[in-house]
Amino acid sequence: MPSIDGLADRLSTYLAADQVNLVRRAYFYAEQAHDGQRRRSGEAYVTHPLAVASILADMHMDHQSLMAAMLHDVIEDTGIAKEALTSQFGETVAELVDGVSKLTQMNFETKAEAQAENFQKMAMAMARDIRVILVKLADRLHNMRTLEVLSGEKRRRIAKETLEIYAPIANRLGMHSMRVEFEDLGFKAMHPMRSERIRTAVRRARGNRKEIVAKIEESILACLQREGLQGEVTGREKHLYSIYQKMRGKRRAFNEIMDVYAFRIVVDKVDTCYRVLGAVHNLYKPLPGRFKDYIAIPKANGYQSLHTTLFGMHGVPIEIQIRTREMEEMANNGIAAHWLYKSDADEAPKGNHARARQWVKGVLEMQQRAGNSLEFIESVKIDLFPDEVYVFTPKGKIMELPKGSTAVDFAYAVHTDVGNSCIACRINRRLAPLSQALESGSTVEIVTAPGARSNPAWLNFVVTGKARTHIRHALKLQRRSESISLGERLLNKTLAGFDSHLEKIGAERIQTVLAEYRHEVIEDLLEDIGLGNRMAYVVARRLLAESGDAAPSPDGPLAIRGTEGLVLNYAKCCTPIPGDPIVGHLSAGKGMVVHLESCRNIADIRNNPEKCIQLNWAKDVAGEFNVELRVELEHQRGLIALLASSVNAADGNIEKIGMDERDGRISVVQLVISVHDRVHLARVIKKLRALAGVIRITRVKA
Ligand code: MN
Repeated sequence: MPSIDGLADRLSTYLAADQVNLVRRAYFYAEQAHDGQRRRSGEAYVTHPLAVASILADMHMDHQSLMAAMLHDVIEDTGIAKEALTSQFGETVAELVDGVSKLTQMNFETKAEAQAENFQKMAMAMARDIRVILVKLADRLHNMRTLEVLSGEKRRRIAKETLEIYAPIANRLGMHSMRVEFEDLGFKAMHPMRSERIRTAVRRARGNRKEIVAKIEESILACLQREGLQGEVTGREKHLYSIYQKMRGKRRAFNEIMDVYAFRIVVDKVDTCYRVLGAVHNLYKPLPGRFKDYIAIPKANGYQSLHTTLFGMHGVPIEIQIRTREMEEMANNGIAAHWLYKSDADEAPKGNHARARQWVKGVLEMQQRAGNSLEFIESVKIDLFPDEVYVFTPKGKIMELPKGSTAVDFAYAVHTDVGNSCIACRINRRLAPLSQALESGSTVEIVTAPGARSNPAWLNFVVTGKARTHIRHALKLQRRSESISLGERLLNKTLAGFDSHLEKIGAERIQTVLAEYRHEVIEDLLEDIGLGNRMAYVVARRLLAESGDAAPSPDGPLAIRGTEGLVLNYAKCCTPIPGDPIVGHLSAGKGMVVHLESCRNIADIRNNPEKCIQLNWAKDVAGEFNVELRVELEHQRGLIALLASSVNAADGNIEKIGMDERDGRISVVQLVISVHDRVHLARVIKKLRALAGVIRITRVKA
């Protein structure tokens, strides 16, 4: 049973006698104030503030923090006014208690809004006096340690909040020990079964590993001794929650995680750290690229250490951290370690403390910029979780995405169908490119269109696995159905030349031919034709069952409808548009490419019926087609705007524009415009000709 006397004894090892007495006085004041109140467990209420003060004493916090810890629930739970505390214990302690009370009044709803407010209050409290947050963290830690007496629902709610808010704050303040305890206790409360299972597995693994751990430790110690270096070597284990997260997040097996042997070497001074590093690199081969010097470049939360990974005997990976005792203290207690070394109460904050203050200051600035608490929490979360972005749906729901995610990732995160049918996006109510990386705090709205399809180009910029997989899958399906339909049309066109049709061919004959080509179903064969892997002509001959060498009557051309999709491409060299005489070139695996009949690139193969197909345009051809124009005109002001408005006036769209200055007077403008067909193009050209100063317009067909 902890008692105030026991605590006072411990305090007297690092506090002056009058300070210890002040803490005592605060304790008795609290005992009186909480008189008659009990904790859920049945103990007198004052055991709780005593335990909180004791946690702070472990961190060697100053007497004012300890007094505030003793009194932290007095304003909230007993109706004693802040002014009363001021007159009893002075301004500073009363302020601290008031700060903690304000944090305690937090609304424990799990809603994001409520959490946002919690965050805000914490940040403000921290900015005023960082000790408020340390008292609050200790308060939460004791509550987590005694969580079992609470009902299941309340327990989970507190545990969730601890994992989502308190653990990251402890981490940000460099308080590793506290973070680990928050996480393990929170994990246990949220998932008692999983936590127990991992605990058992760790215990079992510890038994199996014992021998190897001892061997490695021995060899490291021997190595240090040979080099005449002093150091304390200890084995390290990952805490349960981090094992759980690794298993979930990185999908690693338990054994894989436990297969790493981790040690820490604590030494007297920085110089020794580097000498120990040299010694262990001599002992075992270091793994390239794994060495990190956090002594020269500390982490944002002030953490300092050397990290390296070695290949041990039989290739076991050994992770080693090397640091001084002071760094060790910092690594465990973070900002609280500051008080361990502080001798003078008025000494300017330095090191860790200064860095933590810096962070708090940044947080406050963000808060002033952000309009509401939801935006604020997102800004804070960026700082606490730098690898994620937080964006909002138009309805205000928060979505968490990996850093670098785009609107397409967002769309797929909302729903697969939204991703597949997305055509545009608005970021903060403005149209934006789908490829733009999202920033935290943005509101993202996806514009969808029925019948829209995912675009292969998206694969170049999506970040999330979900988006990637679904785009690939959708493209595969789309490509297959488009290939099948093109293949069928190609085959029927050829069969028509023999005065036949797929429907006229007996099922038996089809089966025989399928067997020859080792296909199960006719769709596979048609897909093969559509993709250009098989010649429709040859397949048609097989289907017609060797009707000798009878040459087919000249077959009519295949009509291009403009809706063939991925298996039909328009050649970039000659950019055909409806109305142009065209010819199709089949290339294996890619489907068909449509060229102008006059295109030089296919001049050699144009008359080879195995490679080229006669095509024409269907009457109802759909879509827009790009075509390149070269406009020579006299140089004039606002010439691009003039061109653009002319194209626009003829319902054309400019896709690309480029300009060369021929000389001082003549400019040459390259315009890529999209049109429906030749008639449309003629209309556009006519408009352009009407412009003053235009000398010549030519359509570019490379
Ligand atoms: Mn409390």
